[in-house]
This record gives sequence, C-alpha cells and structure tokens, in this order.
Amino acid sequence: MPSPIAHTSIAMALWPATARKLRGTPARGRIIILGATLVTLVAADFDILTGSIFGSGPFVDHGGPTHSFVAAAIWAMAFATVLSIATRAMHWTTFWMLGFIAYGSHIMLDAFTFGRGVRMFWPFLADRIASPLPIFAGVRHSTPASIVDHTLTIATELLFALLVWRVTAWWYQRGYYDSQEQPSASDKEQSVAS
Ligand SMILES: [Zn+2]
Repeated sequence: MPSPIAHTSIAMALWPATARKLRGTPARGRIIILGATLVTLVAADFDILTGSIFGSGPFVDHGGPTHSFVAAAIWAMAFATVLSIATRAMHWTTFWMLGFIAYGSHIMLDAFTFGRGVRMFWPFLADRIASPLPIFAGVRHSTPASIVDHTLTIATELLFALLVWRVTAWWYQRGYYDSQEQPSASDKEQSVAS
C-alpha cells in the first residue's frame, strides 16, 4: 500500500469538480464534505486497525475485503446517505459517485504498489490482484513508522502528488471542469443582474 500521501493527493483531482457543484453551499457543509472525502480516501486501511484489535496482527489480513469494489459501493452508500442528510448540498447519486471514486482510487493505488496486491474482486474472486508494473514502493509492514526506511516511498509519493496537482491544474486551465456543467438557473440570473 502507498502511504496516506499518495491516497489523499487524489483529493486534489476530485475537489475542483466537486467544489463547482457546491457553489452556494455554506462553508460548514463544504468542510464536512471535504473531510468525509479525505477519510474515504484512506478508509480501506481501517483493516489495519481491526486486524490489530480482532485479528492476528495489523498487516496479516491487510488488503482483504475492505480493499474490494463491493466494499467501495457499500461505503459510498453510507457516505452519500450521511452527507446528503447532513449537508443537502448534492443529489444522493452524486455523493455516491464521489464516495465510490474516492474509495475505489485507494484500491487501484494499492494494486499499483510493490507487494502482494489486494482482493479487489472479493467476494467473487478470492485472489489478490497486483499490477505487474508497480509504481509505488509502499509502506514496510515491519517498520511502518520509520521515516528512514521510507525515503523512496515518500519521494515517489510526493512526485505522484505533484503529478496529480499539475495534471489537475492543466485540466482546470483548459476549462475541462467548466465544460462538465452547464451554468445553473441561479448563475444565469446573477449574470443577468450584473
Ligand atoms: Zn490500502
């Protein structure tokens, strides 16, 4: 698995399109949605915590069922239900898509990490799936908190975060995000009024 650096950097790609849909949403609502999205980006790794409490060790079953698209779909339902009730800022389906993409990105990044892969197609397929060409060095399970042991991990993930930022900025400058959404009725009224 990559560290939270790579996982949370995906928020930079997801947020501009989300923020456009949140125009007019009070700051409190936007902060709640951003916070929930950041939690979702690392949520699959809760199996480290449950493994150390209920299992045989923090990393023994890591990358199991919580790293599946079924888990992503279930998480996204809870994400969408809680956020649509708490903020009323977007349609339930839009929240679900945001939650599923955020959670799913975690699964994909883990599959592109040097190691044993993840059970992404659980419960239909028990196999762990890993890319034959890993991009991330990943976190050493024997010394997860050592910075010295993770110099390469941190370096590759900062580079990845930089890439996500630059590609997002490039898309944004090209007006990609603008073309995703027609101006709303209230936008039109505002432009007429001004
Ligand atoms: Zn993971």
